Amino acid sequence: MNEIGHLIGEGRIAGSGEAWGPVFNPATGEQTARVAMAGAAEVQRAVEAAKAAQPAWAETPVIRRARVMFKLKELIERHMDELAALVTAEHGKTLDDAKGSVTRGLEVVEFACGIPQLLKGEFSHNVGTGVDLLSHRFPIGICAGITPFNFPAMIPLWMAPLAIACGNAFILKPSEKDPSCPMRLGELMLEAGVPPGVIAVVNGGKEAVNAILAHPDIGAVSFVGATATAEYIYRTGTAAGKRVQALGGAKNHMVVMPDADLDQAVDALMGAAYGSAGERCMAVSVAVPVGRHTADALIERLAPRVRQLKIGPGSEAGVEMGPLVTKEHLDKVRGYVDLGLAEGAKLVVDGRDFRMQGYEQGFFLAGCLFDEVQPSMRIYKEEIFGPVLSVVRRDSFDAAVELVNAHEYGNGVAIFTRDGDAARTFANKVNIGMVGVNVPIPVPMAFHSFGGWKRSLFGDHHAHGLEAVRFYTKQKAITSRWPTGIRAGAEFKMPTM
Ligand code: NAD
Repeated sequence: MNEIGHLIGEGRIAGSGEAWGPVFNPATGEQTARVAMAGAAEVQRAVEAAKAAQPAWAETPVIRRARVMFKLKELIERHMDELAALVTAEHGKTLDDAKGSVTRGLEVVEFACGIPQLLKGEFSHNVGTGVDLLSHRFPIGICAGITPFNFPAMIPLWMAPLAIACGNAFILKPSEKDPSCPMRLGELMLEAGVPPGVIAVVNGGKEAVNAILAHPDIGAVSFVGATATAEYIYRTGTAAGKRVQALGGAKNHMVVMPDADLDQAVDALMGAAYGSAGERCMAVSVAVPVGRHTADALIERLAPRVRQLKIGPGSEAGVEMGPLVTKEHLDKVRGYVDLGLAEGAKLVVDGRDFRMQGYEQGFFLAGCLFDEVQPSMRIYKEEIFGPVLSVVRRDSFDAAVELVNAHEYGNGVAIFTRDGDAARTFANKVNIGMVGVNVPIPVPMAFHSFGGWKRSLFGDHHAHGLEAVRFYTKQKAITSRWPTGIRAGAEFKMPTM
């Protein structure tokens, strides 16, 4: 069986411990590899390699660091098919979707190519007589990233390129469910010219994470995953004096106004709710039609589309939805569908009994659609992270906004309408980090920043864009006076220039 170790120093190394985790092909249900689960020793080894390499990397002229990013961009483009295939093989999403996710990660590399411009400091001439003020940004030193299973290419690429371009060393701890793509990305970074030690991939789970959080030489931690984990990482990391950004789970609503183009709204809902089998933090999991007529018309059009979803292995052409990531996750999602029925919601489309011919051991679940879901139900309150869409009916625009705002999560939200006034009011009033107007999955581009509000993000900085440049650097302000001609004398009061 394929064994996946770690990537520390010059390249891959074998796992040294006793602990291993299984990696599956979700389409067949077969275990395809085992991955080494690091403990404190491997994290220590990665930190030592980082400490040896990072000071010289930070001193490398920024234009040369940018050239490494240009090379990485080229390598990711060249290896796009290979990277996407690795994502599909271990995550299960379709190849098209996997390629899209690698491309969204690649865009962050492209943004990092502009690091000389991004790191330019600020200068004020003559802030006092003969006094100049310069502020500019320095790397943190060693940063770490802990990433979820659902985007094994994109989310490591949200973090590592910018952290490294800023002059840091970066230790990635990817999800143990799909480690092959992050390992390959680590290799491509080395090939692009990132010095050994400046990038490391340490595989594992909670033990590796705890070793990262406890390590005094790691200055900043970026995390993306479930809210319970995010909160734990934020609290533990900040208590240990680290800078932490921890992006958590979500429950994203899509409000459908009576004047919306319903066909467009249904197309959008199909992709946003069932694409990637609902395993996206920006997936729409709640549709909120406004008014009974809108709700009835929406369900009437949605139900047949959900029944007709083309389900199959992600590697097959024409497939719209692949399997879920693991058997455990499949059982959890199916359990939520059982729960919704027990809670009294109306299951309009039931995908629980779906069996994929020829792939009977695969982790497949067909699309499920609930109507008449109430805000008090657990299927509404909790993140399901599967192909399950809940319809919560509301009588008015105000009631829809109130519903969205009352939810504990605040990652993404969308409104479908032709009314500019309603769209603008909605965008102003919702307490959600990312808003789409007739755009179901409003993931900001790499040169803006990504992040939710409320319990979808712990910390002060969003991911990528300028927020990431600030997160991975600390600012220094240098005030200078040259002694030519001016004699200020001793000053005992607070200097005021
Ligand atoms: P997860 O929280 O289970 O795991 C994320 C990472 O944390 C993994 O690397 C895992 O090994 C580690 N981890 C898990 N449990 C831990 C623990 N108890 N202590 C320390 N480390 C632990 O999340 P997941 O199931 O891999 O990913 C799905 C979740 O991620 C969903 O909730 C989804 O909404 C969220 N997500 C959020 C965003 C966002 O941008 N807000 C993006 C993608 C995914």
